[in-house]
Amino acid sequence: MTIPYRELMSKALCLLIVLIIVSGCRRVEDEAGTLEVITTKTGIEMVKIPEGWFDMGSKGSSPDESPVHKVWISSFWMDRYEVVQEQFKKFQISDPSHFKDPNNPLEQINWTDATLFCNERSLAEGLEPCYDEETWECNFQANGYRLPTEAEWEYACRAGTATNFSFGNDVRNLKGHAWFAENSSEKTHPVGQKKSNPWGLYDMYGNVSEWCNDFYSENYYKNSEQKNPKGPIKGKERVLRGGAWNSSVDSCRSSYRSSDPSIDDTCLASDAIGFRCVRNASNNVSPGKNMVKNPAVQESKGKPAREISKTGLIYDDIYLEHKTTAGHPETSQRLVAITARLKASGLYSQLIKLPSKPVSTEWLATVHSPEYIQRAKRSCQNNAGYLDSMDVPISAESYEVALVAAGGVLSAIDAVVEKKVTNAFCAVRPPGHHALKDKAMGFCIFNNVAVGAKYIQKKHNLSDILIVDWDVHHGNGTQATFYDDPSVLYFSTHRYPFYPGTGSEAEKGSGKGMNYTINVPLPAGSGDADYLRVFKEKLEPAALAFSPDFVLISAGFDAHKDDLLGGMKVTAEGFAQLTQIVKDISEKCCEGRLVSVLEGGYGLEGLASSVEAHIQVLMR
Ligand SMILES: [Zn+2]
Repeated sequence: MTIPYRELMSKALCLLIVLIIVSGCRRVEDEAGTLEVITTKTGIEMVKIPEGWFDMGSKGSSPDESPVHKVWISSFWMDRYEVVQEQFKKFQISDPSHFKDPNNPLEQINWTDATLFCNERSLAEGLEPCYDEETWECNFQANGYRLPTEAEWEYACRAGTATNFSFGNDVRNLKGHAWFAENSSEKTHPVGQKKSNPWGLYDMYGNVSEWCNDFYSENYYKNSEQKNPKGPIKGKERVLRGGAWNSSVDSCRSSYRSSDPSIDDTCLASDAIGFRCVRNASNNVSPGKNMVKNPAVQESKGKPAREISKTGLIYDDIYLEHKTTAGHPETSQRLVAITARLKASGLYSQLIKLPSKPVSTEWLATVHSPEYIQRAKRSCQNNAGYLDSMDVPISAESYEVALVAAGGVLSAIDAVVEKKVTNAFCAVRPPGHHALKDKAMGFCIFNNVAVGAKYIQKKHNLSDILIVDWDVHHGNGTQATFYDDPSVLYFSTHRYPFYPGTGSEAEKGSGKGMNYTINVPLPAGSGDADYLRVFKEKLEPAALAFSPDFVLISAGFDAHKDDLLGGMKVTAEGFAQLTQIVKDISEKCCEGRLVSVLEGGYGLEGLASSVEAHIQVLMR
């Protein structure tokens, strides 16, 4: 069917006019540049807050404002003014305010009634309400109105500034920006009478304090998430931000936090408490990327990861069925040594045993070519003895085993994303990090970690993956898979020059992936101190700046001092310390989501003790 051109144009024009009327979008010239302002269907002005990083908290003030920490906020719409009494009445909710005036901010409003207003306002505009009116849980994925998170509020209030107030540190200027104890005559005033902040928001420092969505915790900043933090999962009191008509200068500062227990209907909030609403801006993105996050992950339904603190284990006896040649260092005895050690130390019974199943060829094909997958299958079935080269000995079962090795990693990822466990270790073989798209190499058939990274992105919609590879050999296969891909930060430290020959510092990625591959070559004989320095000085800053959504470790233990092949001097304690650094990164960036996958490690005693030390840190 074809639509006549004229008809199409008139339809397009009508649509445009409707859109203009509905959104009322306009741009306001401001001293800071152009603000994007809309008037919503219910007649409330909102300003678009741009995405970005900021330093949350303050040094040397109240303990609950420290430590100062970097936070990423996705773009959102925020009311320019505090919600006023006139607006509240529109939704036929009785106005509880003490200082009556249609243009005065609403006050004496408890947190629950503020969220009810958010829901009513959403419904009036045909948007999905954010609050469950039984549990009061906030659905951050809904497109309706909600209270700001504490981090959103502070970010918007600061408007790009790092000083005590958005106008600087000179408190004499506060009178021009806020109604507070020194100028309010002990009452509220119509909103918008004082100067706005650089992002066009009024009354952020005075008139009434504003409800945030978060529960209040004095210690929250010590373990706050980096991206769009949403406060503790549980608590008794909700956060209040911004000074009020009765506030001192100090409690008007951008970083000042307070709380109030008036969450339920049994108590009326003070006449110095009101609120304003926010709404997600569409196409929210993570830093530098365009992928929308998985709702199930962003907002945890069930228990928070921090309270679970469980470590999963992937192990299956089938991994013993991949037979290499006699005397080959990559032997099933490696896993026998690991499981025996975990059982002897008592750790085994504390680990959550996760099921392994074969990876589907569909997922395998996200990294490997169909021709290669078929060749691997045929070579094993035909008992060819080797796959592609003499350094990948295979047996008849090796193909099946390799499928379950990669599949085990995917099971571990599912368990972490679904919060069944906090993190997981995969005691799998054959290893994977040398395996290329269409070639087996270095004892590896399928690239378990690379397939895992693709799976996290495609199955779970988590965009940014950090892969830390501390195997003594360079993970050439993993590097090649993501060499031009900025969504995967591949970090490898390894002996160099050494097998497989790649991994010089000059290999940094290509195209859009430039600088998303980081190689730190080390000379033979390097030990704990050398590795720790690399992790502290190179990995940590790069990883925190990248801020992954999930962390994978290519955990080879062949840099252990007693390894048969490695020639390095790392101890089990050294591996524990490396684990701690990577774990800390995962906790800062992505709620501790971490899956560690066994690669090399060929001295049985050193391997077993290193895995034990590694898992002990994961379980902490
Ligand atoms: Zn290795």
